[in-house]
Amino acid sequence: MIRYENIINGCETSPVDGQYLETENPWTASVWAEIPRSTPEDIDIAVEAADKAFTDSAWADIAPSQRAAMLRRLGELVEQNAEALGEAETRDNGKTYTEMLKQMKNTAEWYRYYSGLCDKIEGQVIPVDAAGHLNYTVREPLGVIAMIIPWNSPVRLLAWKLAPALAAGNTCVIKPSEHASTSVLEFARLVRKAGIPDGVVNVVCGLGSEIGPQLTDHPKVAKVAFTGGVGSGTAVYVAAAKRMRPATLELGGKSPNIVFADAPIQAAVNGVAAGIFASGGQSCVAGSRLLVADEIHDEFVALLVEEAAKIRMGDPMLPQTHVGPVANRPQFEQIIRMIEIAHEDGATLACGGKPWVSPGGALFVQPTIFTDVDIDMRLAQQEVFGPVLAVTRFSDEAEAVKLANSTRFGLSAGIWTSDVGRAHRMAQKVKSGSVWVNTYRMTSQTSPFGGYDLSGVGREGGMAMLESYLHTKSIWVNMTGNYPSAFSDLKE
Ligand code: NDP
Repeated sequence: MIRYENIINGCETSPVDGQYLETENPWTASVWAEIPRSTPEDIDIAVEAADKAFTDSAWADIAPSQRAAMLRRLGELVEQNAEALGEAETRDNGKTYTEMLKQMKNTAEWYRYYSGLCDKIEGQVIPVDAAGHLNYTVREPLGVIAMIIPWNSPVRLLAWKLAPALAAGNTCVIKPSEHASTSVLEFARLVRKAGIPDGVVNVVCGLGSEIGPQLTDHPKVAKVAFTGGVGSGTAVYVAAAKRMRPATLELGGKSPNIVFADAPIQAAVNGVAAGIFASGGQSCVAGSRLLVADEIHDEFVALLVEEAAKIRMGDPMLPQTHVGPVANRPQFEQIIRMIEIAHEDGATLACGGKPWVSPGGALFVQPTIFTDVDIDMRLAQQEVFGPVLAVTRFSDEAEAVKLANSTRFGLSAGIWTSDVGRAHRMAQKVKSGSVWVNTYRMTSQTSPFGGYDLSGVGREGGMAMLESYLHTKSIWVNMTGNYPSAFSDLKE
């Protein structure tokens, strides 16, 4: 049993109350580590440390090239420690080690990319209609950023926030999920090794319900960057609004894969199957709805059922395993409940639909496909976050667009067709933050990612994300040497 501590001001720090939470390995169904069950007091200590690091300018005033070198070093350290970080994550959330290892290598790229932007944060000289006056802008970091992340890919989703925030000169307090904190704590140790000053990056573990509000409502927090579900995202957004602080929210999805009769069929089958069944569907961009053209509906569903039958569930550390166990019991119960709901609402089960418990006690749900899913059914509208696909047929392009846009979510969409004109028409009409044509689940540190409507607020990735961690200050200088008398030339 390993006991982890919070990381505050560069030090392993026990929670004030001395309480710990057990963290279970979903594959062995046994406790393998303990993490702090922090209290609001621990949050206060961490925010003070981050604020001190910010106001003492330990970070923001370091030369941009030096800040860049440290971020680059952090990326290298993530890459060098990818195996240990990936293993910690697999132990916490049951996703396959193969996937986690790949994610860690990609995570390193986020630190590299944003390290390259540290010395490209520039103001502007603005042409103004005021003779003898100079107007220019400077960019300033915001201050202490609260970062709240979910359990499904903690180190990667943290990088989407942390790399741009650090590049811009901010400090932070991170609250990982109670279900998967250890990889973030392992990562935070690397921050110190990279030479980043103490107090710039702090991690406080515990229950969202107990410490989340203290963090999002803290007067010294300048911005909240959140990834998670709509329920807690709403609470976080309200807390930020009450303090008039900005927030970025990366929330859930009910993403459609839209398959036309002229699609490259086998590629579409592979894309749709991987879109929903990879990671056991525990992905924000899971392609949890299939919209398929009438003409190919039966053939396509039959091919998908065949594909689903090939999926090997098992020990997530083994390379031959496609899908590991469901991450935790509440998640498992939510998936099973949604399967019951699909039956109650009258959908037709094409395959799967049953739980499977391994001899060691790990919880799985069979890859499941429901057909005849009307758009009003709960399975078509609510996020499952599990391996459950809802299939709905369409007769023409207009109906495909209508169905695609008939949920409150808008995170991502896949379009499968060999008609290039249709691909672009559809891409423009579908309301979602990412659209993939004849592919699925592509992301990059250089490209914006985020959602419409219930899928979130703001974008992560690319230059835009760096901007969102900066203030723009407009500075006016009277160079004329003339000082008009009061009220003679007031400009509103
Ligand atoms: P949750 O919303 O349950 O939790 C997310 C984080 O918020 C956790 O750290 C949680 O802590 C914390 N939290 C809970 N309540 C509060 C509160 N009142 N104030 C502040 N923080 C709080 O999501 P899950 O962890 O279950 O993750 C799954 C969800 O995340 C899915 O909906 C998925 O779609 C979404 N997601 C979105 C992504 C995107 O980029 N759009 C990417 C990945 C996931 P604790 O765990 O301790 O409760």
